[in-house]
Amino acid sequence: MKIAVLPGDGIGPEIVAQAVNVLKGLKLDLEMTEAPIGGAGYEAAGDPLPDATLQLAKEADAVLLGAVGDWKYDKLERHLRPERGLLRIRKELNLFANLRPALLYPELASASTLKPEVVSGLDIMIVRELTGDIYFGQPRGISTLENGEREGINTMRYNESEIKRIGRVAFDIAMKRNKKVCSVDKANVLETTELWRQVMIELSKDYPEVELSHMYVDNAAMQLIRAPKQFDVMVTGNIFGDILSDEASMLTGSIGMLPSASLDANNKGMYEPSHGSAPDIAGKNIANPLATILSAAMMLRYTFNDETNAVRIENAVKKALADGYRTADIYTEGTKKVTCSDMGAAVLAAL
Ligand code: NAD
Repeated sequence: MKIAVLPGDGIGPEIVAQAVNVLKGLKLDLEMTEAPIGGAGYEAAGDPLPDATLQLAKEADAVLLGAVGDWKYDKLERHLRPERGLLRIRKELNLFANLRPALLYPELASASTLKPEVVSGLDIMIVRELTGDIYFGQPRGISTLENGEREGINTMRYNESEIKRIGRVAFDIAMKRNKKVCSVDKANVLETTELWRQVMIELSKDYPEVELSHMYVDNAAMQLIRAPKQFDVMVTGNIFGDILSDEASMLTGSIGMLPSASLDANNKGMYEPSHGSAPDIAGKNIANPLATILSAAMMLRYTFNDETNAVRIENAVKKALADGYRTADIYTEGTKKVTCSDMGAAVLAAL
């Protein structure tokens, strides 16, 4: 099983090192090879996605990624910025399905900004389309109009087959969970999402056991805070999913807890924490590595079909939390504040 390990920037190398240690702790036959991406790619090869990195990722069965980005690259031309490397690798590997679970560990109920009774027992899977929508639609750009005024354009677009394939991922996952899919759109004002809704309804005929509901994105943003436990699987487009999944992450206490998987049609996947490179805390060994470690568990589950070892990792994380270990972002009084590497060691010990 070949894994391309792409630590990236900021806290990326610190958190990925912990996930790699945990994977090694399983004593499986894993071949892990590291390569630079994002700002690290730009430093190494003048490109946020160097050819050699892309090649390695293409040849691997799965990719484990830290995060990319740093404020010091904000002045670079757009195509050289770290985030472009990430968008490109997703596109090149055709990773159209982004799975982001928002699961609240009972031990962290008090770390959430919401009342424990609102969030305890929370277990949502957000399925976000990742390769289409306004982030990729053409035409795009900033141009100057005849009157000298500047205008910015982006284009929201989805075709039927793109909607269908992400819908299938959501319905298939719902079949293994509580059989509820909530499709999020803005069908009252955006034609693209009017089509989205039509296709979801058509697709639902293949899944008679799954209860399909629809919600406008503005209401979904509100409901996630008001009564998040009403959701099982949420499926939505790229931009709405980007925003809602970050919102959902806060329900669980910290963005440092949330893993993600991005899959292609054959379950090859890229696995990464939902958060960014956190330049504000990089190099201090205080980041929370659990989202990355849990991403490695998702890798075993979705790409390597190894539920047993995925659950072993997840149980080891639960054990470390139950034993009171907390990084600064999830620390509450009465628990043990530990560093990034100590948290990784605690999970490894629990394993
Ligand atoms: P961010 O997710 O990096 O950080 C937001 C806040 O959460 C910060 O206060 C940070 O310290 C904290 N945080 C994030 N991860 C944490 C962890 N594991 N443990 C403890 N605290 C954590 O988002 P941002 O500040 O908006 O962006 C910073 C950089 O990351 C930017 O360059 C941005 O483009 C990039 N970014 C990358 C990705 C990615 O690689 N997938 C995603 C989002 C942002």
